[in-house]
Amino acid sequence: AAKSEGRGTFRFFKQGMEMSGERGHVFQHDLDTALRNGEFELHYQPIFDVSNSGPVGFEALLRWQHPKLGWVSPADFIPVAEKTGQIVAIGEWVLNRACSDAASLPPDTFLAVNVSPVQLQQGNFAKKVKTALFTHGLPASRLELELTESVQICSLECLEMLADLRALGVGIALDDFGTGYSGISYLLSLPVTKIKIDRSFVMHLEEKAESRAVVASLLQLASSLGLETTAEGIETEFQLQFVRSAGCTLGQGYFLGRPAKIKDLQHTYRDFYPRKVSSLGA
Ligand code: C2E
Ligand code: MG
Ligand code: MG
Ligand code: MG
Repeated sequence: AAKSEGRGTFRFFKQGMEMSGERGHVFQHDLDTALRNGEFELHYQPIFDVSNSGPVGFEALLRWQHPKLGWVSPADFIPVAEKTGQIVAIGEWVLNRACSDAASLPPDTFLAVNVSPVQLQQGNFAKKVKTALFTHGLPASRLELELTESVQICSLECLEMLADLRALGVGIALDDFGTGYSGISYLLSLPVTKIKIDRSFVMHLEEKAESRAVVASLLQLASSLGLETTAEGIETEFQLQFVRSAGCTLGQGYFLGRPAKIKDLQHTYRDFYPRKVSSLGA
């Protein structure tokens, strides 16, 4: 599992720093060939019902194996791809690969795919989602789109696309909720089905009363609005117990399961796949 833990991941910049200048250009150039050369992979992190064992869903997380640099974190290359527009093609690849991989995940689990605001600005986004679902025979109800950031810039057209997808049964989750990238007005303006409480709050549940207050009130808000909730970045038993007792329904984090390749998941969660019926009277 060491590989899937992102060990050896190459990071150019500290979190939050803008990718620009020469190295940004290197990435821009290399991203062009990355898709063609098959350097991208999806790993999946299980999402659990906090009061039950067994995965209820999986989040697709993009991994880039750069030919010279090794693993590059999405936190480093996605901002570049967004700036250059390359995220549109990359995002389409992610969507299709995830819909195709869904057949290899336990049945009845949902599949969460991260979507960049840049993708949402494309007028044909909803059509691409429908095509991916149809091509891979994935029921719309098994797909969930994770949105971040100011879709305050979400145009009327974008709102209509989301409503359209929602009507088909596609889930819509607000990622990193509470971080300022996605706020309450944003929440109310979109056809959201779930909020994901950001790891930065979950991280400090044990030592900060403030974080406990924030998480408890976000959970209450979600519950009043009839939304599902996922706590991100659960790393300890304490955090799991806290979010569970505060009414959170789903949890995700290293304490519960790390992102992994499909093959490893099939092994780890083999009990959650239908057993082959031993044929005719065994
Ligand atoms: P995110 O969507 O909030 O994904 C959760 C991130 O938290 C993942 O990082 C995951 O590996 C990490 N994580 C999960 N549990 C824990 C934990 O217990 N502790 C810690 N320390 N970390 C945990 P990752 O894979 O590096 O992805 C970073 C971000 O990159 C994602 O944040 C998402 O915003 C973006 N991203 C990843 N894949 C895609 C993609 O296909 N498309 C787009 N547009 N963005 C993506
Ligand atoms: Mg996400
Ligand atoms: Mg998240
Ligand atoms: Mg996050």
